[in-house]
Amino acid sequence: MLQEYKKKYAKAVLQYLIIDFNANVLESDNALFPNLKNKHIGDIHPFFESIVPLLVKEENETIFSCIHLNVENRVITSDIILQTFNDNKNPLLIIHDLTSHYKNYQTTAQVRNESVINSQILELKNTYLKEKEAFKNTFIANFSHELRDPLTGILTFTDILSKTSLDLEQKDYVQILNSTSSFLKKMIDDILDISKIESGNLELSIEPFNFLKLLNEIKFNYKIKAEQKGLDFKHNFDERLPEIVGGDAKRLRQVLTNLLDNAVKFTDNGSINFNVSLNQLRAQKASIHFEVVDTGIGIKEENIKDIFTSFTQVSGNDAYKGPGLGLAIVKYLVELTNSKISVTSDYQKGSTFSTNINFKANASLTISETESNKTIAFDASKKYNILLVDNSEITQLSVLKILASQGQFFLDIATKPEEVLSRISNFDNEVDLVLMDISLKEHRGDEIAKQIRKLPERHQRKVPIVAVTAKVFKEDLKTYKKAGINDVLKKPFNENQLLEIIAKNLK
Ligand code: ADP
Repeated sequence: MLQEYKKKYAKAVLQYLIIDFNANVLESDNALFPNLKNKHIGDIHPFFESIVPLLVKEENETIFSCIHLNVENRVITSDIILQTFNDNKNPLLIIHDLTSHYKNYQTTAQVRNESVINSQILELKNTYLKEKEAFKNTFIANFSHELRDPLTGILTFTDILSKTSLDLEQKDYVQILNSTSSFLKKMIDDILDISKIESGNLELSIEPFNFLKLLNEIKFNYKIKAEQKGLDFKHNFDERLPEIVGGDAKRLRQVLTNLLDNAVKFTDNGSINFNVSLNQLRAQKASIHFEVVDTGIGIKEENIKDIFTSFTQVSGNDAYKGPGLGLAIVKYLVELTNSKISVTSDYQKGSTFSTNINFKANASLTISETESNKTIAFDASKKYNILLVDNSEITQLSVLKILASQGQFFLDIATKPEEVLSRISNFDNEVDLVLMDISLKEHRGDEIAKQIRKLPERHQRKVPIVAVTAKVFKEDLKTYKKAGINDVLKKPFNENQLLEIIAKNLK
């Protein structure tokens, strides 16, 4: 019985042949190739011709691996073993069918190769994407830095020009200069923000600030803007809103001004409503609801999903052209507070943008005196020596003009490390504060700061240093701090910002 089953189910994989020294088959079982007796082994397959020279009267075992042979209609992959003997015994030939073994082996090897190749491709792709991303972000950061120098010049001199005596026509021109350069500044800031967002470098701060004051300022500005366009501006601020909350005032202002700018821009008739209400005040947290409603051109339903994507505009009307970054930034900032921005819109009737944002709120939140009362005051009896380290003539002129208008400053300019160090080491004319550009033509400002911090005289090495730069990513700020820089003035800056930072850092 067992033999019968074996015959039926066991698949032969080994064939034994005894051959003579002329390579003729003397004996064979029929496991793989039937009826071979008396045939020349070259008749089985041309491969066997190659073993004829090996048929000698010596003890020897030769193994040929992975030989493809045709058995009836299929191809098998086999190992072939030839055993010869040193007495007169005839050679033994064994054909071992290892097809499934080789198939498995090949599949495994292929899968392994493919996975190795795939992981290499993935690694290459990742490296490429990372390099591309890093290049883009560095490019944007550097490029916007290059733009900031000339822009600082334009903004400062527009400001200075507006304070000179001008006739009405000239005043109009200065007004245009002012609004276009401010627009340019906002665009550069937005592009930098987008690059910060994409590189994961944008974080919110949590500081106490006067929330009601901020809302009223925004309301005041947009009431004027809306009315200039002939639009009604209404606001509704909940009486229960806390006066002081903890959060990021600058970024909240950015969210609200972007929404209100759009409302004014995309509305030609009707009104803008700016509503702020308190959802709840619990566990030292205030959840506040913001809503900007307009009666403008509206957004088609199918376009709503696209408006939060960078560089996207959906109005299809050239009259409303913009860079298309505002809402992408708004969405990201709101999401950083774990919230969402919602929009409902009726095409050609108007839109409503709304969001709920959580702030810290408790009775103990206070604002420091310097925060709430930012009047810039210098000791009137003193003159201050300021050392500006900057190659840019525009920045040199801007700082000079601003400081000269105060009548309390002497400004000295240096561009090389040795000039800076010798100037600070000059006993007769002590430097009170250094304004240090970071990306000088041939040097880095933070490196010069490090050298200043190593000077032998205590009062010299302790001189306050303020970096003046457009590079204000988190990593940059860390580097400046490490180099011993006390504070950072972001380019482009205006008169107030420069004077404020000097006042804050003068000893
Ligand atoms: P930008 O205003 O620079 O074009 P935004 O990101 O602020 O960029 O807005 C993206 C697009 O969303 C706008 O171009 C406009 O098509 C649409 N949009 C935004 N706000 C409004 C609004 N209040 N009414 C109608 N369309 C709007």
